[in-house]
Amino acid sequence: MRIRSLASALCFCLAAPASAEVPRVVTDFSVTASLVGLVMGEVGAPIVLLDPGADPHDYQLRPSQASAIAAADLVVWMGPELTPWLPGALDSTGETHRMALLESPGTTLRRFGAAAEDAAQASSDAPAEGGHGDTDPHAWFDPDNGALWVGLIADRLADLDPEHASTYRANASLAQTRIAALDKSIGAEFSSRPPLPFAVGHDAFGYFADRYGLVVAGAITQGDAAAPGARHLAALRAGLQSGAIACLFPEAGADPKQAGLLVEGTPARLGAALDAEGRMTPAGPMLYETLLQQVADTIATCRSGS
Ligand SMILES: [Zn+2]
Repeated sequence: MRIRSLASALCFCLAAPASAEVPRVVTDFSVTASLVGLVMGEVGAPIVLLDPGADPHDYQLRPSQASAIAAADLVVWMGPELTPWLPGALDSTGETHRMALLESPGTTLRRFGAAAEDAAQASSDAPAEGGHGDTDPHAWFDPDNGALWVGLIADRLADLDPEHASTYRANASLAQTRIAALDKSIGAEFSSRPPLPFAVGHDAFGYFADRYGLVVAGAITQGDAAAPGARHLAALRAGLQSGAIACLFPEAGADPKQAGLLVEGTPARLGAALDAEGRMTPAGPMLYETLLQQVADTIATCRSGS
């Protein structure tokens, strides 16, 4: 009798972990989903709130998505600076079930306007319009942040799901090694052949420029301003005309017509689109690294004679 109950107890103990549920993780958009996906690996996949191709700065949740948030074991998101439409819906989750990556200790943060101010001072242009002084939410373009965050995500998932803790930590460690290698190769490429000053469609590449010593000499949309002002566009056009800005890279997913018109009749070149928010890059765990490589390759085309 005693042996038998011990046996059934053992069976229960052994069986329980196999049926343990993988945490339900909800993410804001494709880049965060990629980082969580790298950590979860074969264990599971996160839910992504943003529809493919949608703009993370401007979105409206559906009721079913609000329900997914309420049922989540963990919501991993960048922060209110990127998705101002999300904080209200997060009230349905407990404080301990949320993780805002921009608020994670050790994250490198910058403010909008820093690079634009430098460029404006250098060319005695008008100062940047809009978004001035606010935290720039595009912090994933510093690979140190990406590497830091996968480690922190692994810690949180390990707490929620001790059964898979070692898998989460091993996956995060592998991802960190790959991200560091990618960072090194991008850095080597840019330091050996620095690109010319360029402008972008959407002011999302300050972290990338800071990291690799690049000069973002303008953006069609400054900060998170909805529409650029006429004075700002005239200054950008003057930079393209004078040769101070060698290339203009439009934003992926946006109508390239405006960028084409700005470049037309100037010595500047219209480059390929830059996918700031992973809107046009295939979703999945590899999106983050693909995005960094694509952005590096695209910006690297802005050289004299190329
Ligand atoms: Zn953005």
